[in-house]
Amino acid sequence: MFDLAIDGALLRGRRVDVAVRGTRFAAVEPAGTLAGAAARERIDGARFLLRPPFYNAHTHQAMTLLRGVDDDCALMDWLRRVVWPREARLTAEAVYAGTRLAILEGLRSGCVGFNDMYFHQPAVIRAAAEMGVRARVGLMFMDQVSDHIENAAAWALRDGLPPTIGLSLAPHALYTTTPELLRRVAARAAETGLPIHTHAAETAAEAAIARERFGFGSPIAYLDACGLLRPGTVLAHCCHVDDADLALIAERGCVVAHCPQSNQKLASGVFPWARAAAAGVRVAVGTDGAASNNGLSMIAEAKAAALSAKLGAGSPDALRFADLDRAATEVGAAALGFPEAGRIVPGAEADCILVDLENPAFAGGGDPDANFVYAADSACVDTVLCAGRVLMRGRRVADEAAILADARRAAESLRRAAD
Ligand SMILES: [Zn+2]
Repeated sequence: MFDLAIDGALLRGRRVDVAVRGTRFAAVEPAGTLAGAAARERIDGARFLLRPPFYNAHTHQAMTLLRGVDDDCALMDWLRRVVWPREARLTAEAVYAGTRLAILEGLRSGCVGFNDMYFHQPAVIRAAAEMGVRARVGLMFMDQVSDHIENAAAWALRDGLPPTIGLSLAPHALYTTTPELLRRVAARAAETGLPIHTHAAETAAEAAIARERFGFGSPIAYLDACGLLRPGTVLAHCCHVDDADLALIAERGCVVAHCPQSNQKLASGVFPWARAAAAGVRVAVGTDGAASNNGLSMIAEAKAAALSAKLGAGSPDALRFADLDRAATEVGAAALGFPEAGRIVPGAEADCILVDLENPAFAGGGDPDANFVYAADSACVDTVLCAGRVLMRGRRVADEAAILADARRAAESLRRAAD
């Protein structure tokens, strides 16, 4: 007896039957093969494209509550003047409400996992666990801030976390930390085996700080000297990198979380995808926080990643769709610490989405998977599964009305506190 069967959906150009048992795919067979097999729940896949879901490789989920506070500002000024004073007033309840809102928005675009770096981490863990998505929750390190970083409280939860949630060590960036703090984080990563997640080489201003304050030719060289470039380290942005930096990132086994819309909106720079891929760097895709994007749709982010790579290299074949698709799904899952998710094959973790082919984006022909990323939007994502659980069906997510009401309340009290 299977827990769930999806009959006759379109997977990579062929019709298949898929069965789920527990948290994993038990069978992926040509359509019709599993028609007689018993299953507790069945979905008719005839009108659906079946795909691996997205995994958001870099975000600050609860920044949904800061969306739109200032949309025309460069990173350093934006952080100091706009973001940090508001974040100082965030409560655990607000972070919980903002994170749930972000997870809802992610699910609607077909995203089932996120790599987070934010405050009040126990609230982030609670939101992810309750909504059934995968999360890698960062223990935050910043020199100037300590009162609402709840690293100890999150660390205390580590043995009771569900298999869909893990922790990381997340020093914010080189300009908010001392070298001593970064070295301590690197030592702790070596000791605990936890992956590192940090902003890296995002802006020209950050590159200047690496040179002038720390005496290094590049942010990547400096972060490596502090010991942060380790296997599995996720480096967000990497706009200001040369070929030596890219070779080092590849050699150390790090992953770049490419955040093209945030990079464009803050005019931070362009991540050189084609040069990175040629150097052997693994690349995943992230939205960054909702205050610098401003949407959390991974469909839109994946398309922006392709456009940024093509325009940046001055060549339309700088990034092929198959490589983009793998980066936003399979590589993202691995970057979050779930190497057995992100592929629809027997034995893999049962994460997938069903996309409604009765949408204008699919009626004119062409590769349906490419049409999904390049022509469609969240409106055509019908069903989302994570670890065998149906988290969205017919575009409905559990507790939607409460999630929206709580987020409105939390945003309003944050706004009142700012006045
Ligand atoms: Zn970020």
